[in-house]
Amino acid sequence: MIVGIDLGTTNSAVGIWREGKAELIPNSLGDLLTPSAVSLGDDGALLVGMAARERQSTHPKLTATAFKRLMGSSQKVPLGKKLYAPEELSALVLRSLKADAEALLGEPVEAAVITVPAYFNDRQRKATRRAGELAGLKVERLLNEPTAAALAHGIHEREDKEPFLVFDLGGGTFDVSIVEIFEGIVEVRASAGDNRLGGEDFNEAVVALVRSRLPELAEAAHDSLLKEVMRAAAERTRRALSGADEAPFEFVWKDRHFATSIRAAEFEEAAEPLLARLRDPVLRSLRDSGILADSLSEVILVGGSTRMPIVRRAVTRMFGRFPDTSVDPDRAVALGAAVQAGLRARDAALDEVRLTDVCPFTLGIAVAERDRHGRIHDGIFSPIIERNTVIPASRVHSYSTMQDNQSRVELQVYQGEARDVSANVLLGRLSVPVPPRPAGQVSVDVRFSYDASGLLEVDATVPLTGTARQLLILDEEDAPSEAEIEARRQALAALKVHPRDDAANAAVLARAARCYEGFLGERREAISQIIMAFEAVLERQDPREIESVRRDVEERLNAIEGERYL
Ligand code: AMP
Repeated sequence: MIVGIDLGTTNSAVGIWREGKAELIPNSLGDLLTPSAVSLGDDGALLVGMAARERQSTHPKLTATAFKRLMGSSQKVPLGKKLYAPEELSALVLRSLKADAEALLGEPVEAAVITVPAYFNDRQRKATRRAGELAGLKVERLLNEPTAAALAHGIHEREDKEPFLVFDLGGGTFDVSIVEIFEGIVEVRASAGDNRLGGEDFNEAVVALVRSRLPELAEAAHDSLLKEVMRAAAERTRRALSGADEAPFEFVWKDRHFATSIRAAEFEEAAEPLLARLRDPVLRSLRDSGILADSLSEVILVGGSTRMPIVRRAVTRMFGRFPDTSVDPDRAVALGAAVQAGLRARDAALDEVRLTDVCPFTLGIAVAERDRHGRIHDGIFSPIIERNTVIPASRVHSYSTMQDNQSRVELQVYQGEARDVSANVLLGRLSVPVPPRPAGQVSVDVRFSYDASGLLEVDATVPLTGTARQLLILDEEDAPSEAEIEARRQALAALKVHPRDDAANAAVLARAARCYEGFLGERREAISQIIMAFEAVLERQDPREIESVRRDVEERLNAIEGERYL
């Protein structure tokens, strides 16, 4: 039996595909959500789920939560005297979900589809796989969370290829993804987010509001127990406000009972700065994917925090329409994982549902620019592979020398988004010898090839002399074997062709050139425009754009050539 598992930061859930539909499995307490928490009990046994979450305020040093954030890092989490790797803690959560599923189904569960955030890199994905294996599960596949949410909404059964947006506001993170389905292939076109924005921040806004009303607590501002008690009270109030216009805020601290109440409008005002922060990642994902909000077929809400009416209103305002709330936002990801598990078990259509990774940040080099007065400004970022480019990808840019008779070109490779490279991360350096010539007369082609495992190959070539230098940059925490590196480099080598040299593109260009020769006047002018536009697209080196424009060019040439014989 294959199950689908949403391994979340705050909560996890397990589902199965049964009698033609996905359903979630309750845990031993009867709940569909199991807190992703582990605690060392007084008797030395490890507690998982609600029992562990309950101990967070009383035994914070013996309790671990939010370890999903550490997945793929070498950071360990102390619980009592022992240190645990994040994947070991995740494995305990997975094991408990596996046991719940076995108890309900009455048969062993051996395999699972586990969901991961779309932006998880290869290392984080490997750590998730390891967690599954430690829990005794064969990990059939890792599924991106926004894709899972989309599957729960039946997106794979649709004919249209309209993109949709997944708006996921959880306990501590906010993720926006734009997902598209085309010819049975589900693709995450862009993802953006704020990994410091979630339900917990809204709790803090409520706590700040209450503290301003209870000046007697000012002296105890740093008391950790008070903080935790107030946080828990805020969580209760906030949830109650999801279904009422006013809710009590009550807690007991040092045997004193404190009580006040909060109106929905007051909460909305206090949360305004947080609501404003929801906008930026949405805009970024639309911009990066080149998709207009109006052409989205749907906005899907995911994550417990999207239950808040103030969040739903903010989303409605942002998109000018109501989001899709047909699937419970806490359950969508696990249900989608169960749909995928069902596809897997039936061996149907599943290979069609594939994912493409996108590069989470921009990669480029530092360059110098001359301003209008001839002054040179250096340390300016020149992007080569832009964030949200579908990977693996390979792009080449050409640069020319700045000084007369310079003998070398020094390349500094950066990752980041800032124009000033000092605000980005320096990944490596490469020095290339060039023949001494007047400034601007020697060019260097710099090619970046990047894969989903974080391997970056930098090739610098001087066309004038044929000199070539290469730099290999590996993800620091990843330690692949020589053979693995070689296999990855082989895979990248296939991409190192400029699109204008690619056979299909070259054939279309040759055909257009032939057409140009065969026509005169307006048609010849039209063909010339088509060639120029296609060449400009080829220079941008985006395979997806090239493919769609090439089809268009072919159709237009067909039309022009067809006219000839009419
Ligand atoms: P998730 O990470 O998707 O499990 O989301 C957990 C977050 O959802 C927590 O911050 C909860 O406070 C929040 N949440 C769950 N249910 C509600 C609700 N009814 N109203 C407001 N927030 C909720």
